[in-house]
Amino acid sequence: MSYPITVTQTDRKKEKPDSGSLGFGRYFTDHMFVMDYSAEKGWHDPRIVPYAPLALDPAAMVLHYGQAVFEGLKAYRTRDNRILLFRPEKNAQRLNLSGARLSMPPIDEEVFLEALRTLISLEKDWVPQERGTSLYIRPLMFATEPCLGVRASESYKLVIVLSPVGAYYAGGMKPVKIHVESRYVRAVRGGTGFAKVSGNYAASLKAQEEANAKGYEQVLWLDAIENKYIEEVGSMNVFFKIKGEVWTPALNGSILGGITRDSVIHLLRDWGIPVREEKLSMEELYDAYTKGELEEAFGTGTAAVVSPIGELRWNDHSLVINQERIGELTAKLYDTLTGIQYGEIADPYGWTV
Ligand code: PMP
Repeated sequence: MSYPITVTQTDRKKEKPDSGSLGFGRYFTDHMFVMDYSAEKGWHDPRIVPYAPLALDPAAMVLHYGQAVFEGLKAYRTRDNRILLFRPEKNAQRLNLSGARLSMPPIDEEVFLEALRTLISLEKDWVPQERGTSLYIRPLMFATEPCLGVRASESYKLVIVLSPVGAYYAGGMKPVKIHVESRYVRAVRGGTGFAKVSGNYAASLKAQEEANAKGYEQVLWLDAIENKYIEEVGSMNVFFKIKGEVWTPALNGSILGGITRDSVIHLLRDWGIPVREEKLSMEELYDAYTKGELEEAFGTGTAAVVSPIGELRWNDHSLVINQERIGELTAKLYDTLTGIQYGEIADPYGWTV
């Protein structure tokens, strides 16, 4: 692995958008990180260059067989102007886990973290100020070899781009309406659901569009075999508070192991709240709901951190949860995690860098 990272600065810096109009993933910073892999040289030539389109051979394997994985994390600006990352080593590990599933070569985690540090230091003025805003970091690894044979590519690119993003809850935290998906599935055990594989997201679009057309914001995915067990909600992990205990589906091979999920489980256990990482069927959830035992429901992920669920539509059944008021535990988890991420409360876990 060749260090150090070479830096070529742009001589044409872009104008920065104002923080009110950021939205998600629409603006990109002045520079990007790129590193190449070849069978002969391994990973080599780590570099920061001006943000620009990439030249790709039309036969590049990623375009044909979808050999691509990615990550997502954020850099947060604290009130005293430090810039924090939240558990970035977990993203490095998950990138390699995802890559391994698609027969891609591992990246030295230290090189990945050094790439983040160097790129974000250079682009620090792009980390927006306002609470709730952040600089979204998108690492992407894909196959570049020009060849139409169906096999693993012998060359790859790792690219990291940065995008300033607006506050997810600019209009205040609002419980979301979820369509429980009984027709399409996201992932199967033995497949790629546990990995952040680009194709998983392509496969999820149709259900998402149909749910949106029916007035639901997100889809709740069920297991692909029996169409019975709860897996994830949109691109978030999902949690339910039932009779004082918190349930979340166990990582079974088709669920992505979220870093927010892991952090939430950590916090809950520290607070003495029992967490059950187990199978949970829609039937069981509905049963708890009809008995008045379903107290809170929320999704977790980097984008929203914690997202309260207000309604679940499951065939002819409607489960209405906390529509008037955000659940107490949901709010406490959100406040604690974002407090740590923005450096406003002590971080006893050493999660921020
Ligand atoms: N599930 C899926 C399918 C996702 O894409 C994400 C976002 N990475 C998550 C869960 C949540 O993961 P994290 O908490 O690491 O953002």
